Amino acid sequence: MTSVPDYFGCMVFDERVMKARLSADVYYSLKQTIKKGKQLDLSVANAVAAAMRDWAVEKGATHFTHWFQPLTGITAEKHDSFISPSPDGSVIMDFSGKELIKGEPDASSFPSGGLRATFEARGYTAWDPTSYAFIKDGTLYIPTAFCSYGGEALDKKTPLLRSMEALNRQALRVLKLFGNEDVKRVSTSVGPEQEYFLVPKAMYEQRKDLIYTGRTLFGAKPPKGQELSDHYFGSIAPKVAEYMADLDKELWKLGILAKTKHNEVAPAQHELAPIYTTTNRATDHNQLTMEIMQKVAAKHGLVCLLHEKPFAGVNGSGKHNNWSISTDTGMNLLSPGDTPYENAQFLLFLVAVLKAVDKYQDLLRTSVATAGNDHRLGANEAPPAVVSVFLGDELTGILEAIGKEKPYSAHEKTVMKLGVHALPRFTRDTTDRNRTSPFAFTGNKFEFRMLGSSNSIACANIMLNASVASVLEEFADRLEKAKNFNTALYNLIKTTIAEHKRIIFNGNGYDDAWIKEAVEKRGLLNLKTTPDAMPSLLLKKNMDMLIGQGVFSKAELVSRYEIMLENYCKTVIIEANTMVDMARKEILPAVETYIADLAGTACEKDACGIKPVFEKKLLKQLSEYTEEIDSRTDALEKLVGKVHDVSDVTKCAQKIRDELIPAMDVLRKAADGAEQVTAAKYWPFPTYGDLLFGVK
Ligand code: ADP
Ligand code: MG
Repeated sequence: MTSVPDYFGCMVFDERVMKARLSADVYYSLKQTIKKGKQLDLSVANAVAAAMRDWAVEKGATHFTHWFQPLTGITAEKHDSFISPSPDGSVIMDFSGKELIKGEPDASSFPSGGLRATFEARGYTAWDPTSYAFIKDGTLYIPTAFCSYGGEALDKKTPLLRSMEALNRQALRVLKLFGNEDVKRVSTSVGPEQEYFLVPKAMYEQRKDLIYTGRTLFGAKPPKGQELSDHYFGSIAPKVAEYMADLDKELWKLGILAKTKHNEVAPAQHELAPIYTTTNRATDHNQLTMEIMQKVAAKHGLVCLLHEKPFAGVNGSGKHNNWSISTDTGMNLLSPGDTPYENAQFLLFLVAVLKAVDKYQDLLRTSVATAGNDHRLGANEAPPAVVSVFLGDELTGILEAIGKEKPYSAHEKTVMKLGVHALPRFTRDTTDRNRTSPFAFTGNKFEFRMLGSSNSIACANIMLNASVASVLEEFADRLEKAKNFNTALYNLIKTTIAEHKRIIFNGNGYDDAWIKEAVEKRGLLNLKTTPDAMPSLLLKKNMDMLIGQGVFSKAELVSRYEIMLENYCKTVIIEANTMVDMARKEILPAVETYIADLAGTACEKDACGIKPVFEKKLLKQLSEYTEEIDSRTDALEKLVGKVHDVSDVTKCAQKIRDELIPAMDVLRKAADGAEQVTAAKYWPFPTYGDLLFGVK
């Protein structure tokens, strides 16, 4: 197993294995199910299950699991062995079609936001044949959707699949109008770029904040951070290189197309990007990637931090969701073609995305709303919380020209029959890279850059697919009725540009002047925090759209609102409790020990007739800090109690935003101040300097 092509996907029940191990009939039925979402009949399922079992057992697997993505944001699994007793006391390895298709895990401990009463604990998992099964740690993993007894989605995969279906439905209608009769399926693809930090495991284990919350809650700025920009794309340290090589190998075995790796802006920060694939698979792969990243790190004596903001003062981590729409005939609908006809179709899809992002900017914002991501958005290291679209000067110029019914440029004379000026072949402009835009067109795809590093990419893609589907539906409704298609098309493109051009912004998204302009002049939303953003999910226009596209039911939306805000509240409360714990049990005692030693030295000096000037100055300073830390800790603890008393989740989240987080900030400030004047050997846990520069 030395060459990559030899072992790539060796743990995946992919096309190669299916073709080799299934009869032609079974393979054909399975492919039809995958392509058209047709129900699989039990005899086929039995044949597939038997083939999967034989293959898995040959590879040393003893168990199988239905792998699903509950609303915790991470994946869940319950392992069952293949063993089945024989009358003679022996066992055989057994796995039926029924077991493959459906599972019934006890769902009672997963968040359901009231969808499933606790007395109705049953939940169902249903095989998703569009994502390959795979073997990991001696278990056959079967990707599944997870829903309640009543059929409501309790996971992220189900609405994602529904949103892909919605987009397929509406895009096909539009494509038909352009004469694309041969296209049978439209799907979206995603390449998620994943950022992460690596810190030494031995140091991690000494930090309760990292252990309980995934981020540091205390820590003074080290003398050096990311000022010199010497880490970004810098040469990779040997220990990190070993980790990355091992990670690639593990991902490749699982059929994950890990492609690019490099150092990121902050010290100890890195990125991994796979080659893009269908959104559904990309989502499964991203979940797996995050898991494997952490597992491989442990083997190397490291810990991989996926939190959005592990360290204050240096960049946090995000995830860039590169997204495109393509057909089963190999056409990328976001790629401007060579002919005017293709241009018009491209333009229609482009303005559909513009309109969707403008009209549902609040939904896109909710899709990335978490307590962790609130630290990044708008903090001059990631896009602002205001959603806008970067198109680049050329494409913006073209849209403006269409809006004004003028030719795009003097030398561009080709005029289409329908009056839309031919788009010059739009080559990807590498000089024109805008890293500050939340939603950037990058030649043949859009890059949605607001996702947090630990987010499941499902949420963002659900909203993106659903919004674009709903706009395409409006477009198709209008164009199908039109007497003259070309005129109607031209008018539609023109009015859409006019109505939604406010969302286009090609400048610096980190600029304060932009936020002012966006909000005051353009009327765009600036939903800064999760409690600000989440209520948008339940606005009528958004519920109507999501329900109308068949992506969510009303009950599912209400439950998701509850779960997301509950998660926000719990996350911050755990952080606050951790701060109280660390301040009382570690920071204060450490500073007190230093104070005692200093006081001792002061007394000794005094006894020798030497004035303890330095000691006295420091004793005063340290004592002021300990008083402050103590009173801030008490206040924070009291506040946590008060927050707990607020039973309404919306109000609780608001109180956390307005009171608890500021109280955490002041405690941190006092503790960080104390750290800066406390001798290093007294500080009770590894510092920022230790953590950020600890992996060589
Ligand atoms: P960057 O400079 O932003 O890193 P890359 O070209 O390396 O840009 O692409 C980043 C990600 O975009 C990769 O995961 C890549 O596979 C993905 N990508 C490229 N083309 C497409 C596409 N048509 N649709 C979706 N994702 C794509
Ligand atoms: Mg990118």
